[in-house]
Amino acid sequence: MIPYLDCPAAQAMLEAFVDGELAVADQVALESHLRWCRVCAARVEDMQLIGASLRVTSCALRVGDEADDSLTSVQSEVLTRIQTEREQSTWSQLRGMCTDMRFFWPAVGASFALAACVCVAAAVVAVTNAQKPDSLAGMIETLANPGSDENPMRLDGAMFAPPRALNDSALASLPGDDAVVALAAVVTREGRVANYEVLFSERESVRRHDTAVQTDDVSSVVNAVKQSRFTPAQAVDGAPVAVNMVWVLARTTVKASAALVAEPPPVRSAVPAPRPVSVTPKPESPSTSVALPSSTA
Ligand SMILES: [Zn+2]
Repeated sequence: MIPYLDCPAAQAMLEAFVDGELAVADQVALESHLRWCRVCAARVEDMQLIGASLRVTSCALRVGDEADDSLTSVQSEVLTRIQTEREQSTWSQLRGMCTDMRFFWPAVGASFALAACVCVAAAVVAVTNAQKPDSLAGMIETLANPGSDENPMRLDGAMFAPPRALNDSALASLPGDDAVVALAAVVTREGRVANYEVLFSERESVRRHDTAVQTDDVSSVVNAVKQSRFTPAQAVDGAPVAVNMVWVLARTTVKASAALVAEPPPVRSAVPAPRPVSVTPKPESPSTSVALPSSTA
C-alpha cells in the first residue's frame, strides 16, 4: 500500500529526493505523487537542471583553479631552472674561478705546460722526419735526381757545357818555371765549384824540396778555383745540372838558349813565342780535360 502524499508534503521532500537522500518508502511515495502531479514534477526537473548546471560550473571553476595552480608552478619551476642553469653555466663558473683565483693560476700553468708539450712533440716529429743524406731514402732520392749537386752528371755532347777556362792568375803567382796541377771538381747547378780535389800537382822548382811548400802553393790555386763562378751546364731540356769537371792547369816557361843570348839573332827570332801546352790525357777521369795557354816569362 503506497501512502498518499499531498503537494505540500511532497514539496518538503523534493530536495532530499533530488539529492538521493530519501528513505526507500518515502521515495516510492514521492515517485507515485510525481506521476500525476505536474507541478511537483516540473519543480523536480528544475531542481535537477539547477543542480546539473551548478555541478558543471563548479567543475569548470575547479579546472580553472587547477590550471592557474599548474601555470604558477610551471612558471616558478622555469624560473628556478633558469637560475640554476645560469649558476651552472661555464661562463659563470669561469667567472667564479677567476674571482677567487683558486683555479686561475693552475689553469694558466696547465695551459703553458700543454703548449710546451705540443712544441716538444712537434720538434721531435720534425727531427725524426728530417731525411739524413746517408740514409737509404736519402740515397734513393739522390740516385733518382741525376744532375743534382749530390749526384752530378757526366758531361756529354748534348749538354750546353759551362765555360771551361779557368782564371790562370793563381797559377801565374806560383814561383818557379813549370807547374802542372790537375783538379777534379763539381760545377753545381748554381755555377759554383764544389767537392774539388787535387788529382795531380807537380812543380819543377819544388819537386825535390819539402812537401809542405808545395801544398801551400797548390792551395792558392785551389782557392782561385773555389772562387770561380761559371754558367751552369744545361741538360737537353735546358734545366741546369751539376756536372763533373777536370781541369789540368799547366804553365811552361820557354827560355832562350845561352847560345842565342851570346850571339844576338835578328830581333824577330829573339822573342820567344807562347806555346800551347798539350792536354794531359786522363782516361779514367769522367769529364773533359782542359789546357790553358802557357804564360811566358
Ligand atoms: Zn504535487
